[in-house]
Amino acid sequence: MKVAVIGAGLAGSECSWILAEHYNLEVTLFEMKSKKTTPAQITPHLFAELVCSNSLKSKSRLNPAGTLKEEIHKLGSIVIPSARAAEVPAGETLAVDRELFSGAITEKLKNHKNITVKEMIIEQVDDILKFGEFSAIVIATGPLTDDALAIDLRKITKCEQLYFYDAIAPILDGDTVDHDIVFLANRKSKTHSYEKKIAQEAAALEGLPQIDEGEEEGDYLNIPLNKEEYFAFVEKVLNGPKVPHKDFEEPRYFNGCQPIEVLAESGPRTLSFGPMKPKGLTDPRTGRMPYAVVQLRKEKLGDTAWNMVGFQTRLTWGAQKEILSSLPGLNKVEFFRMGSMHRNTYFVSPNVLNEDFSLKENNKIYLAGQIMGVEGYLESSAMGVFIGHVIGNKLTKKKLLTIPPANTSLGCLARYCIYGEAKKFTPMNIHWGLFNELSKEDINKYSSQPEQVLKMKKIDKSVKRELMACRSEDLFQQ
Ligand code: FAD
Repeated sequence: MKVAVIGAGLAGSECSWILAEHYNLEVTLFEMKSKKTTPAQITPHLFAELVCSNSLKSKSRLNPAGTLKEEIHKLGSIVIPSARAAEVPAGETLAVDRELFSGAITEKLKNHKNITVKEMIIEQVDDILKFGEFSAIVIATGPLTDDALAIDLRKITKCEQLYFYDAIAPILDGDTVDHDIVFLANRKSKTHSYEKKIAQEAAALEGLPQIDEGEEEGDYLNIPLNKEEYFAFVEKVLNGPKVPHKDFEEPRYFNGCQPIEVLAESGPRTLSFGPMKPKGLTDPRTGRMPYAVVQLRKEKLGDTAWNMVGFQTRLTWGAQKEILSSLPGLNKVEFFRMGSMHRNTYFVSPNVLNEDFSLKENNKIYLAGQIMGVEGYLESSAMGVFIGHVIGNKLTKKKLLTIPPANTSLGCLARYCIYGEAKKFTPMNIHWGLFNELSKEDINKYSSQPEQVLKMKKIDKSVKRELMACRSEDLFQQ
């Protein structure tokens, strides 16, 4: 049985390796680099190129990137041992000599008895049929998938949901926000107040207790700014360093998707009429509407992850950390993901994938890596390993592979691609916010002093991470 893998980036290299080495399947690996590089690539002959930084994130087991590495290593990854062999000193981070790293992977794949490499640009998936019949086809062409193939993939999936530009707002850890300053409330619209007024009048007529406006539950955490704080913030956004556009990235933004610095450039008050609009919100500390507000909306998948609504930005990650931490209540904030805006090709996977990870419109075709809705070298590699096992199991063991348990790193990423909320779907990196909060049972099982932990009003962050890491490791063993 033969499998075709299109794209020898991180996901395609991992997937080919798993299929050839661990399932003894014949793989034809198609890669266009020697004919045409993507605008981000510089090495035409190396597979698994790291196009920007040389870091594969944290090595610590208390960081989900660390546990993800361990998980895929156990599943037979080629990327992790190659990275460890090419490691350069970078503290807690796994950073590599990029040429050694990619060189080792390229050599192993090119010399593998079960892998045939075809150096060509695939313009349509059907182009590969002249090389034989394939039992499965993996699309691992990444965030800069060549245009003709992207158009063909749109046709195959019968949907327009193949994105080209990605606006990502930062996600922060709600546990690290000062809840004495930020307040939980929903914006009150006119209709809302009117409905409330009618309900209050009806309650009065019936002699029932009045509804207390302050009792309403809120879905948003609101960061209030006074006039001075607002203009100081705008100034910092205007002056902060931005990630320059690459030549291939046209700075063309959709309405409603404009980065905060572009809004700030159009006028000092624009942000206060846009994403920082205070209308309909009352700060309980002052009893008044703030001058401006930054709203945080809960991410569905985790209990402590909050998205900064409308805060997509090209500010550098360092500048984002500094400027956003200067907002009221955020001086100790920790970010799960920073904001970014870059060209990106990815599917809204929950809409296009079956539960066995094949495409709904053609169950021989699979996606792997960034194109399926994850973000980052490590995460793309992880999904390459996973899809390799999905296909390997199906073709050789004739059984479907179950998704790794929830609350393991790989389980969280795989579940995000299948069950993530389609409306808000953007490529996701691995972070604690994707994991469920600790239950009482988890604390009893994983803590050596459960009574003390259960007594804590709010579990200390380091205790929480340690317990979440223990849970993740334990579940992955099972
Ligand atoms: P890729 O590694 O991009 O591999 C896709 C492969 O498919 C490429 O080799 C390409 O040549 C090939 N291909 C594409 N189209 C065709 C075709 N039609 N026919 C044949 N072959 C084709 N992540 C980080 O963790 N750190 C970073 O610093 C970082 N920087 C980034 C900078 C940029 C500019 C971009 C766009 C992304 C960056 N990313 C970064 C995010 C991303 O996760 C990585 O780029 C990662 O390499 C994606 O892995 P992949 O295997 O899905 O795709």
